[in-house]
Amino acid sequence: SALRTPLIVGNWKMNLNHREAAQFMQQLAWILRDGRFDPSACEIAILPPFTSIHSVQVLVQADKLSICYGAQTVSVTSQGAFTGDVSADMLSALGCTYVLVGHSERRRYHSDDDANLVDQVRATLAAGMQPILCVGEGYEERREGIELDYAVGQVDDITRDLSEEDARKLIIAYEPVWAIGTGLVATPQSAQDAAHAIRTHLERTYSADLAAQARILYGGSVTSANALTLLTQARDMDGFLIGGASLEAEEFSAIIQQI
Ligand code: PEP
Repeated sequence: SALRTPLIVGNWKMNLNHREAAQFMQQLAWILRDGRFDPSACEIAILPPFTSIHSVQVLVQADKLSICYGAQTVSVTSQGAFTGDVSADMLSALGCTYVLVGHSERRRYHSDDDANLVDQVRATLAAGMQPILCVGEGYEERREGIELDYAVGQVDDITRDLSEEDARKLIIAYEPVWAIGTGLVATPQSAQDAAHAIRTHLERTYSADLAAQARILYGGSVTSANALTLLTQARDMDGFLIGGASLEAEEFSAIIQQI
């Protein structure tokens, strides 16, 4: 939709150290400079591990790249005796635009439950960044046919007490867990159904205007081979959250250049 600029997000997970991140950014900049890429037609964001964020920042600034970046999670507290945590203010000081909140790997391997995720969303917004909230059913819910209610329920769990002003800054990534890192991509119809259900929920909860402007992404085994079909056939979907296929500049840019 002309209302919504497509957004392509690379989630590096625990890959690419600060040197590899610098190499990736140089390569991506080089490919995009020579290729068919119109920065006004598509927004690109990279979510490196914490230790690689500064490398990405340096390259973005040095080459004046129209590429945003962010973090994969954030502490719910602002500072102090929280060994191992990184605050939202630290991330915004590094120029981060986005923070991924509630990725299925965080929900599974860490204590990122609903109460904690609501606080991550609030901490991200308070520091002037935008949360990218991940939702999506597992294989069981899909088998039972309750995937849409499940994903919409996850959105509601986090947005229930969020004001309309705050909800306007939220980006939602629909990522069916069975599709993440498995090579099993959702059909364009399922991606569309989920994006549509989430958009309808936002319209009912907030307003038609907010729903029309909200960016909803699909994630789960997106590659340069399936991106175009998904994007053209799932009309409520505004881009991708990409794991594996974001780790090599050539493959990642091959997706970007189809937008
Ligand atoms: C992800 O981790 O958000 C993801 C979608 O991974 P992949 O693209 O590798 O399935």
